[in-house]
Amino acid sequence: MRSEQPILVEVESLRKFFPVRRGTFGFTKKYVRAVDDVSFVIYRGETLGLVGESGSGKTTTGRLLLRGYEPTAGKVVYHLPDQEALDIMTLTKKQLWEFRKHAQMIFQDPYSSLNPRMTVRDIIAEPLIATKSARGEDVSRHVIETAKRCQLSVEHLRRYPHAFSGGQRQRIGIARALVLRPDFIVCDEPVSALDVSIQAQILNLLRDLQAEFGLTYLFIAHDLSVVEHICNRVGVMYLGNLVEMAATQELFYHPLHPYTEALMSSIPEANPKVKMRPIKLKGEIPSPIDPPSGCAFHPRCQYAQALCAEVKPEWRELSPNHFVSCHFAESLQLSGFAG
Ligand code: SF4
Repeated sequence: MRSEQPILVEVESLRKFFPVRRGTFGFTKKYVRAVDDVSFVIYRGETLGLVGESGSGKTTTGRLLLRGYEPTAGKVVYHLPDQEALDIMTLTKKQLWEFRKHAQMIFQDPYSSLNPRMTVRDIIAEPLIATKSARGEDVSRHVIETAKRCQLSVEHLRRYPHAFSGGQRQRIGIARALVLRPDFIVCDEPVSALDVSIQAQILNLLRDLQAEFGLTYLFIAHDLSVVEHICNRVGVMYLGNLVEMAATQELFYHPLHPYTEALMSSIPEANPKVKMRPIKLKGEIPSPIDPPSGCAFHPRCQYAQALCAEVKPEWRELSPNHFVSCHFAESLQLSGFAG
C-alpha cells in the first residue's frame, strides 16, 4: 500500500482515558490511559494490522474508530466515496446510525458475540432493520445473499447460534458485519479463538470478501504469523502508544523500534534448523494508570539511554511510509524476523 492511494480513515491525536473509581464514595483519582495520543491513516482497500501485548490499547483504538467509545480527545475522520469528509466524533446519535452503514465490527469471541435467543436469520437481519436499510422481502433477500456469500446455507438461518461450531459462528458474525455492505470493518482478533485449520478458512473468506466488495479492514491481532499472512501494513502498539508502523514486510524484516524487534524475535520458526533467539524483555508491562516518563518502553528497553527516561520520542516518518517513535531509530542496528 502506497501513500498516493486514497485515505479512508484519518486518526488524529486520539486519546481515551478510563476513570478508575477508588475509595468508599467512588471518587475518581486516576485514569487508565488506554489510548494516549495516536495518529495514523488507513488507505482505502487495504488491511492494516494492529499488534501489541494485551493491554496495549489496540482493541480500544478499534472501538474508537467506530465511536464504540467516546474519546477523551482527538478526531476520527472518514473520507467515504462521493461524500464530504466526516468527523464521526461530531455526529449526533441519529447521524451515527446512518454512519453505521459504512463501518462495522467483527468480534473476537464467536461464542459470546451472538445473541443465543435469536435465530441466525434475525442476527444477520438486525443491522438492516436497526439502520432502516431494508424492509419486508428485501430484508430476507439481503440476509440470504449475504449468508450464502459467507458459506452459510438457507437451512442454517432457522437455527440458533448454539447449534454451530466456532468457525461457523464466526461466519455468522462476518455475515452480520457484511450485510450492510460497509466500506470499513474492524476485525477484533477474529480468528484467535479458533483452531488453526479453521483460522485459515476464515482468513481466506475475509480476503475473498475484501476483493469482491472492496472492503478496508483494521485487523487487530496478537498472532504475528496471521498478521504477516493477511495485512498490507502493520502498526505496533505499546502501552496506549503507536511505536512503529510500516508495510508488513518492511516492519517484519527491517524493524526500527526495539519493541518491534523483540516481538519479531519471538515468532515461532517454521524451519527447525533455524535457531530462535527470543529477546527477553525486562520486567512486566507497566501499568497504564501510571506509565513511565519519557519513552514508555524505557524500563524494558536494552538500548535505553538517559534521554529516554526524560523526553517522549516524537512519532516521525523515517523513510517513506515507515513511522517510528524512538530517539535512536537511525543509529540502532535491529534484527528483523529470521524466517
Ligand atoms: Fe528504547 Fe530509548 Fe528508543 Fe525508547 S526511545 S525505544 S527507550 S532507545
